Amino acid sequence: MSAGKTVTYKEVLAEYPDTEKIKFCFECGICTASCPMAELLKGEYNPRNILEKIFLNIEEAFVLDEIWLCAWCYRCYRHCPQALKPPEIFLYTRKFAIKAGRTQAFENAIKKIVKVSPIPLVTICACFHPERAGLDLSKVIKKAEKMRDEFVQEKKRKIKAEPAKKKVAVIGSGPAGLTVAHDLTLKNYEVTIFEAMKEPGGMLRKCLPTYRLPRELLDMDIQALKDLGVKIKTGVVVGKDVDFSNLGDLGYDATFVGVGANKGQHLKIVGVDLEGVVHALDFLWMFNSGVEPNVRGKRVAIIGGGNVAVDSARTAIKHGAKEATIFYRRSREEMPANPWEVKEAEDEGAKIEFLVSPKRILGDNKGVSAVEFDRMKLGELDETGRRKPIPIEGSGFVKEADMVVLAIGEVPDLYFLPKEIELNEDGTICVNPLTMETTLEGVFAGGDAVTGPASIIEAICAGRIAAFSIDCYLKSWV
Ligand SMILES: Cc1cc2nc3c(=O)[nH]c(=O)nc-3n(C[C@H](O)[C@H](O)[C@H](O)COP(=O)(O)OP(=O)(O)OC[C@H]3O[C@@H](n4cnc5c(N)ncnc54)[C@H](O)[C@@H]3O)c2cc1C
Ligand code: SF4
Ligand code: SF4
Repeated sequence: MSAGKTVTYKEVLAEYPDTEKIKFCFECGICTASCPMAELLKGEYNPRNILEKIFLNIEEAFVLDEIWLCAWCYRCYRHCPQALKPPEIFLYTRKFAIKAGRTQAFENAIKKIVKVSPIPLVTICACFHPERAGLDLSKVIKKAEKMRDEFVQEKKRKIKAEPAKKKVAVIGSGPAGLTVAHDLTLKNYEVTIFEAMKEPGGMLRKCLPTYRLPRELLDMDIQALKDLGVKIKTGVVVGKDVDFSNLGDLGYDATFVGVGANKGQHLKIVGVDLEGVVHALDFLWMFNSGVEPNVRGKRVAIIGGGNVAVDSARTAIKHGAKEATIFYRRSREEMPANPWEVKEAEDEGAKIEFLVSPKRILGDNKGVSAVEFDRMKLGELDETGRRKPIPIEGSGFVKEADMVVLAIGEVPDLYFLPKEIELNEDGTICVNPLTMETTLEGVFAGGDAVTGPASIIEAICAGRIAAFSIDCYLKSWV
């Protein structure tokens, strides 16, 4: 297709048949109401409207910066009564916009991301993935960096020279905590982040594969926050080095809990304690912290079906594993991992076995040697709205493996919180979703610690709402 050529909805349809589903859109707006980007950009981003434009006149959609602003969190899809996948429809629209030479709107999109995100380089790289539509990521990052530097100078000028209003403690330096610290620093509060790890960044530092997020981008974003005045105390575990109940005595007037969901869930089967069985977050952290586990030439079995399972498989392959096989207990349709991640993993050589569940892990004092599985069939819908996997009697089989990676979900580790802060049944923190306030006055929470494992953009959005509420709460003291 030559630049400037007119494109029709049907052409996008031919490349991505699921686009057809736009016809069945109820126009209910649930996608927009649930979208963190729509919340962050207040009125400047509306997935429902973009879908309508793509359907009625795709040429009009090409000139919208909105088609570039989807952050791939899939929250809209999870809530859509018609199971539309807006991020994927937008991706194909972008591809056609690029082929037709209509990329001007993307420049505006970068400006908006720089304005809206406290960690814009991370957001562009790990949420927006412009390279997936065919743009040169390094050029995009260069542009964003320049815009960000100008914007930081502008923000610095806005921070008043008078003494800070009040002190706020933030626990955790993931995207949620960094957003709270950024927003409240701009409002002239003295904010200190307490971070357990040696370096800030949360999951972005610990587990995101470096091929997805080069750490120098994270470092640059965090440096820009420090330049604004955000203080980060690393290597401080709240609950061990500092008592949660002492934060008030240390002069903090409000607290934000953004500790993420960093504790791997246990699989209760025989053999999980054998050498060579590792939780996915620890597995990924080993690669990111330089203590690379030796997977070269090994057969790695990954248990789970989410993005973390897929990242583990891709990481194993990239580091020379002979085989990396994901074992998932439901079918491809129910797999929680993003479909494009799954495709990229399969293209790179990862294998997936569907409808299988581990029964026990086999091995001896030298470590793991195999995993015994049962084949499953899908039954009635369960409480999660997905069909329940049921073991098929007599279907057991054994698969040889040198390493087993458990990627069966993560929960927050909240042992340090006082009992006045109520938790939900699944172990996440209970908050008022409009204010992010917990059941203890003056304590707010957000990010994965509240939602369970989610995404960067959702954590940023939660941090923004919490910062706004903390400001209102502290102003109400005067
Ligand atoms: C392997 C993997 C890949 C991912 N890839 C993507 C992706 O490509 N795109 C995307 O959008 N999302 C991705 N995510 C999800 C994303 O990283 C998380 O949703 C996001 O980081 C959550 O942010 P958060 O601020 O809530 O918590 P976190 O990022 O988890 O940060 C919490 C921080 O709190 C600290 N902490 C915990 N307890 C304490 C304590 N007691 N005292 C002091 N500090 C404490 C932790 O050390 C951590 O640094 C991925 C997640 C994983 C695991
Ligand atoms: S939630 Fe689904 S059905 Fe409703 S407007 Fe959005 S895409 Fe259409
Ligand atoms: S994938 Fe996330 S950012 Fe994109 S439209 Fe859906 S909810 Fe919004």
